Amino acid sequence: RRLDSRSGLAAGLLGETQTPVSAEPMESVYEITGELGRGKFAVVKRCVEKATGKVFAAKFLRKRRRGRDCRAEVIHEMAVLEAARNNARVVNLHAAYETDHDIVLVLEYAAGGEIFDHCVSEELLPEAHITRLIRQTLEGVHYLHQSNLVHLDLKPQNILLTSLSPPGDIKIVDFGLARRLGAVGELREILGTPEYVAPEILNYEPITTSTDLWSVGVIAYMLVTGESPFAGDDKQETYLNVSQVNVDYSREAFSRVSELAVDFIRKLLVKAPEDRPSAAECMTHPWLWQQQLCLSPEPAASRTGRSCGTKWTAPPEDPEDK
Ligand code: ADP
Ligand code: MG
Repeated sequence: RRLDSRSGLAAGLLGETQTPVSAEPMESVYEITGELGRGKFAVVKRCVEKATGKVFAAKFLRKRRRGRDCRAEVIHEMAVLEAARNNARVVNLHAAYETDHDIVLVLEYAAGGEIFDHCVSEELLPEAHITRLIRQTLEGVHYLHQSNLVHLDLKPQNILLTSLSPPGDIKIVDFGLARRLGAVGELREILGTPEYVAPEILNYEPITTSTDLWSVGVIAYMLVTGESPFAGDDKQETYLNVSQVNVDYSREAFSRVSELAVDFIRKLLVKAPEDRPSAAECMTHPWLWQQQLCLSPEPAASRTGRSCGTKWTAPPEDPEDK
């Protein structure tokens, strides 16, 4: 399928998809069994494939928004999912349907819910789990960046888990704001949730892959402290906190956090995008590898077992340390 709208392509939207968009009613193939989430333009419902009994998440995306035809944006979200199909850290697209109102993306089901729940819970995750989840997030982000894609809406609500307890593997979802880099045009106008977006977005400065790494820093902060680093009492105050990089590391919340964790977060929450480490550079940070032996080995990020980018192992130890 090719997108006619040139403006869409100019704005970094992808127009080509492979998954057929079926016009038959999805209710004849799936039974809808509940609601999983809801956003401004989308509802996500739990559904069961009748033929197999398998559970999926169906994201109903409204085609008309604010009186405008937004089908191109929805097709774009689908195309980005397809572009990341080989990476297991990105939620898999199973099928697509179209009704008068919506395009429905039938997605792999992440049964463990949002990592957000682990950021606001009384009981925070042990750091060994947090570092594993951050490593997996970085694997996904690295894959996207290698494909010249930026997510631009990474936050604890858009990082899901395959199982809740013990926490399973992460799945990155919600590619509504994702863009292909290098396209000319309106890459400046995209606005995520103020609490989680980088200063360059608030200042309408150019967006790069570094924008996503800011968000990884915010997510890591929230997982280790249970608090949102920039949230103010109102939007105004939050904006100010972000653009001044007003982060407090000395507070009570950090009393039980390792020094390596603080170092990792400090390297990401810096104002100048070019001073933030890349996803690949982050993967070599010692915080991410210190407690890995406490956990069982994890499967490779590859879905297919081949051509899915980098396989990460701990950086070699400094012989001086021994
Ligand atoms: P929006 O664009 O409205 O934010 P999302 O794609 O982020 O839509 O989905 C909204 C919420 O629905 C998510 O935060 C999550 O709680 C839930 N959700 C989305 N996709 C899945 C999935 N594949 N499995 C389980 N829950 C999901
Ligand atoms: Mg979302």
